[in-house]
Amino acid sequence: LEAVAVSDINAFIDVQPELTLAQADEADARLAAARQGGERVGPLLGVPMAHKDAFVTRGWRSTAGSKMLADYYSPFDATVVRKVREAGAVCVGKLNCDEFAMGSGNENSYFGPVKNPWDRTRVPGGSSGGSAAAVAAGLVPLTTGTDTGGSVRQPAAMCGVTGIKPTYGRVSRYGMIAFASSLDQAGVFARSAADCAQLLAAMAGFDERDATSLPVLPEDLAAVPAMSWAGEGSAPLGGLRVGVPAEFLNDSVTPGVRHAVQEALKRFEALGATLVPVSLPHTELAIPAYYVIAPAEASSNLARYDGVRYGHRSEDASDLKSLYMNSRAEGFGAEVKRRIMIGTFVLSHGYYDAYYRKAQQLRRMIADDFARVFGEVDVIAGPVTPETAWPIGQQKDDPVRNYLADIFTLPASLAGLPGVSLPCGFDGGLPVGLQLVGPALSEARLLTIGHVYQ
Ligand code: GLN
Repeated sequence: LEAVAVSDINAFIDVQPELTLAQADEADARLAAARQGGERVGPLLGVPMAHKDAFVTRGWRSTAGSKMLADYYSPFDATVVRKVREAGAVCVGKLNCDEFAMGSGNENSYFGPVKNPWDRTRVPGGSSGGSAAAVAAGLVPLTTGTDTGGSVRQPAAMCGVTGIKPTYGRVSRYGMIAFASSLDQAGVFARSAADCAQLLAAMAGFDERDATSLPVLPEDLAAVPAMSWAGEGSAPLGGLRVGVPAEFLNDSVTPGVRHAVQEALKRFEALGATLVPVSLPHTELAIPAYYVIAPAEASSNLARYDGVRYGHRSEDASDLKSLYMNSRAEGFGAEVKRRIMIGTFVLSHGYYDAYYRKAQQLRRMIADDFARVFGEVDVIAGPVTPETAWPIGQQKDDPVRNYLADIFTLPASLAGLPGVSLPCGFDGGLPVGLQLVGPALSEARLLTIGHVYQ
């Protein structure tokens, strides 16, 4: 990969060098004190990293990639931001993303598209496009992201880096700018599964400020870099049962992606794993289910941007109603408006049963598919995306095409399950990702397998 300057790929929305230097000084002081006391320091002390601009931060702007929050400074840090800082990592800035994390190519950002470091005419994936591109370009070794329907796994795949979306509830959502609250989950990007584990270990854990956060300790994650797969025999992945769902290698997958994924599966076999053909029959229904549930929740979450409490306020208002209407009309981009309209429609009286309730029923069927398959296998493997990174602009005005490309990441999101994206080769010079999905709370298992594989 060619050397990349920060400005080349538009990965950052905000940098504040003096804040970064202050954190670096703090890390230096902590290191010096630990040395003097003969104490060991944590693995993140002094390590540079950056946050997706969907986490609120004190000092840096917190925009969610939107004009609505373009000049917004949060009075508090998200729990993720606080914990990573307490672990001693040094934040170098805020990373570009699709507006309110809605998108698959980072083209819905008010701050312009991010360029894929492997081919700057192409998208990096989304919505955490800046997070994936910054790691791929070597600008920072670790970044955070958020994944509601694939926004960590998909850009990781398209930029050739490792990314993980944990089990819903493993990481606190406090201070994560809300998109679809029953699906939103924080995740991480790094060059390797072992590095992902270290950042995730610092972020995970119960938070009394998030009623959906789970009371699970992060020790298993911290141990990943020293772990091996404790299976049968002497093979590195001996006894590992890898389910390969027929629905994940369907006709939408391009030949190049299919080839790279099949080569990766062969490598799993060579490492001692057994491939087991399985079926997740409701996979296709994940698209209609997600694109009803996520907009429904988004329309509710985004009601808070009224031009009064915070965010963009229209200059052109004559009364309260026009203040609301014009602030929202000016502050939100096209994709966000589209989802607010879909969401309010599917939640409205008379349509709720036909759309929202039906979508919730599909969600249950998709979760049941996974539960059944995890009776037989340890993890599920397949592609992250049907195709590699597309040219910037190509899908900009084709939202449905964008939605369809989410087919392999949405099922795990709807079921609340963890998924990791591992680089598994190239197709025409563009990275391809292998997705592993595991049962609830199997992040350490997924990352250990990734670590052995890498
Ligand atoms: N591409 C999906 C969407 O547009 C997922 C986004 C995400 O995970 N935040 O909603």
